[in-house]
Amino acid sequence: MSKLNETVLEIDLSALEHNYYFLRSKLNSSTKFMGIVKASGYGSDPLIIAKKLAALKVDALAVAYAAEGVQLRKAGIQLPILVLHPQVANVELLIEYCLEPSIYSPRILKAFCQAAKNSGQNEYPIHLKFNTGLNRLGFCENDVEYIAKEIKSSKAVMIKGIFSHLAASEDAAEKEFTQRQIAGFEKIVKDAEAAFGPIPIKHLLNTSGILNYPEAQWDMVRSGIGLYGYGNDPAIDPLLKPVVSLRTIISQLHAIEPNESVGYNRAYRSQGSRTTATLPLGHADGIGRHYGNGRASVIIHGKKAPIIGNVCMDMLMVDVTGIECREGDEVTIFGKEQSAEVFAAYANTISYELITSISSRVKRVYK
Ligand SMILES: *Cc1c(COP(=O)(O)O)cnc(C)c1O
Repeated sequence: MSKLNETVLEIDLSALEHNYYFLRSKLNSSTKFMGIVKASGYGSDPLIIAKKLAALKVDALAVAYAAEGVQLRKAGIQLPILVLHPQVANVELLIEYCLEPSIYSPRILKAFCQAAKNSGQNEYPIHLKFNTGLNRLGFCENDVEYIAKEIKSSKAVMIKGIFSHLAASEDAAEKEFTQRQIAGFEKIVKDAEAAFGPIPIKHLLNTSGILNYPEAQWDMVRSGIGLYGYGNDPAIDPLLKPVVSLRTIISQLHAIEPNESVGYNRAYRSQGSRTTATLPLGHADGIGRHYGNGRASVIIHGKKAPIIGNVCMDMLMVDVTGIECREGDEVTIFGKEQSAEVFAAYANTISYELITSISSRVKRVYK
């Protein structure tokens, strides 16, 4: 890579490939793999990630909302795309762009079946989503009969998949709860197949499900965070590689005298003489104020430099006292030197939130 001269989010597709093969190695060879590219590919670049996943021969992709699927289709992605949380207002759009809806409620079922009929569809593939304990989206287990009645009258749609989502697959303390979700899904599958006949793709596991409950892999798994390099488990993280790294440079160094202040509201007060570095990124780039005032550190020449004072919109200041560095030197916010999981933990959050909040102002570069 050429020398850094501004803030960038580096995207490493060889890391994506590594993580994909690592996750695949945990699965039966016949199990299908759905790559999750919602929220702009977990904050990276949905098109680049989708194209790489297609080249790696994943079986399907998933996004949260219809517009995300439309963006992939317009870029020429031909894999099946599941839309996890479609809205009634978008049912025609789903059909127009060959996107497979998650059907999670009577309301979306009715709207989608009507739209499929109106546009003359024949056996349009849908996935039924059941709630087994997350209590977020999905039919309840005794809705099977109702769904059967609603669908059987029409040849417009075909049940390609049935799925549910685990609430705490990363949490060993919730093993019993997870096993109840798995058993609940098993029963729903039995009832649904009795009502509809065989359903081709039954799927339940997210990344931590793959790692902790591979016995419940059914016909397909849905992985997001693992592909991007995080396993919700300190024992797994070293085996994965971060796909995104946030890097910047030192804009300016300041020598601060004792009893001076740094930044807005004079939130930092110097005890002794300090050297501070101003970095060209701030809360408008996705590094929020909750990382400020000593909570988080960045990495400069392998050393930790704490963020001091309040994070500004376009800048933040770090204490580099004792670190040999110059203006223009490289700084890592998160990446190989300090994982996004570690940086996120400084602000009591998780890798998922941190990597999906790096704003579009930050230039994406590819490795
Ligand atoms: C986001 C999402 C996933 C992916 O979860 P990871 O923990 O990132 O692997 C899988 N299934 C559903 C329904 C999701 O919303």
